[in-house]
Amino acid sequence: MLHANLIAGEWVEDGEVAPNINPSNTAEVVGEYARAGAEAVDAAVAAARAAQPAWAEASPQVRHDVLEAAGAAIMARKEELGRLLSREEGKTLAEGIGETIRAAQIFKFFAGEALRVRGEKLASVRPGVEVEIAREALGVVGLITPWNFPIAIPAWKIAPALCYGNAVVLKPADLTPGCAWELARTLDDAGLPKGVLSLVVGRGSTVGARLVEHPDVDAISFTGSVATGRGIAAKCAETHKKVQLEMGGKNPMVVLDDADLAVAVPACVNGAFFSTGQRCTASSRLIVTEGIHDAFVEKLTAAAAALKVGDALDPETQIGPVVDQSQLDQNLTYVALAGEEGCEVVGGERLERATEGFYQAPAVFLGADNAMRVSREEIFGPCASVIKVADFDEALAVANDTDFGLSSGICTTSLKHAAAFRRKAQAGMVMVNLPTAGVDYHVPFGGRKGSSYGPREQGSYAAEFYTTVKTAYIAP
Ligand code: NAD
Repeated sequence: MLHANLIAGEWVEDGEVAPNINPSNTAEVVGEYARAGAEAVDAAVAAARAAQPAWAEASPQVRHDVLEAAGAAIMARKEELGRLLSREEGKTLAEGIGETIRAAQIFKFFAGEALRVRGEKLASVRPGVEVEIAREALGVVGLITPWNFPIAIPAWKIAPALCYGNAVVLKPADLTPGCAWELARTLDDAGLPKGVLSLVVGRGSTVGARLVEHPDVDAISFTGSVATGRGIAAKCAETHKKVQLEMGGKNPMVVLDDADLAVAVPACVNGAFFSTGQRCTASSRLIVTEGIHDAFVEKLTAAAAALKVGDALDPETQIGPVVDQSQLDQNLTYVALAGEEGCEVVGGERLERATEGFYQAPAVFLGADNAMRVSREEIFGPCASVIKVADFDEALAVANDTDFGLSSGICTTSLKHAAAFRRKAQAGMVMVNLPTAGVDYHVPFGGRKGSSYGPREQGSYAAEFYTTVKTAYIAP
């Protein structure tokens, strides 16, 4: 079956057809997906523009019901969709199902938010005048998403966009169109009016670029790499679009002498290697004070070596394959670089399995320092630098010495150090005795410095991006 694009309420098969390849077994085609061109964006935007006013003016109950139905439908199919996710992206089945459940929860959360859109009423400084502040939809929103969370990230952009009355054009990563296609179909089946959501699978350089420069798109929400994000922000400034960027990370996890190793080691293994390290919140710098360093390294390297790397659908597998050949090549280049920069490299080699896939052993870079490229650049693979430091003050300074600022963690039993770290970490999210990755869906998500730009995503803070405020002055 060819998976068509949903454009202006119709399933359109035009354009080239691209196979969706399983990274656990490159001989397996997950599905065939139509790849649209820039003209499909034009049709989708025109339909969105036409459909948006009625959607925004509909009762909140209408928006609630569509979002609630979509959430329920995704939850009911969590095993099937989780399996699809694992087959197209490579994360383990447990991770794939977990991410699918998350997507369902996000739709259900924003179904509730549709009933809770608030305004404000204040006394005017002028006698006899009333002031009211109301939130209104932006209009047409373009959503551009990466491959590493193929159902959760589209969900956490689509659900608030629709909740607040916007129309949406979604351009998912071309590596993982399957989950996005299922989301579009689910919303179509849930009764979303025609044109309110279009799905345009295609290349970033054509479909993505057209969406960003389109004069009739009011806002762009993007998640992906720093380089792409920067270019998008510049284009959005030129065309007067509101823009939100979620980009990379080089997230630190500090382990202090007083840490409980039974907490710290699993938190670091999870943060650095789960989801094959392909998380923007991955712990890629493990900053360890010297008193606990050697004991930590012994346990960490043993735990990393014991992780079972294999086919995403094998129930024994803890680490699935890397997403594709170019990401694997990039990871292996960084593993070699770590050695050239003077690290002792443990693991990181390419692995053979029963099927042809992009398998890689978790890599630990021992003896790293924070100036090395492997400690400064986002690798986006199962690789972590271990950086030895003297004490808390140095650990904090190293943690903050990065171009990024998404998530920052500390393992300690000291209330004083945990409190100081929470206050002083230059990051959007701080984790104490928890992995740097793994977040809730009803609270803000995002970072500082090179990691993010614009308002936070998720939870009720999503309204900051997906609405604009109007101040009304009334003399009755
Ligand atoms: P990417 O930047 O290559 O692509 C992201 C999306 O942008 C894709 O849909 C792509 O097709 C599109 N795109 C590419 N060029 C474009 C252009 N010129 N105009 C418009 N769109 C264009 O990123 P990726 O490789 O898919 O994802 C990996 C990156 O995503 C990593 O850097 C990771 O840290 C980041 N990420 C960040 C978060 C976060 O919330 N901070 C979450 C997940 C992933």
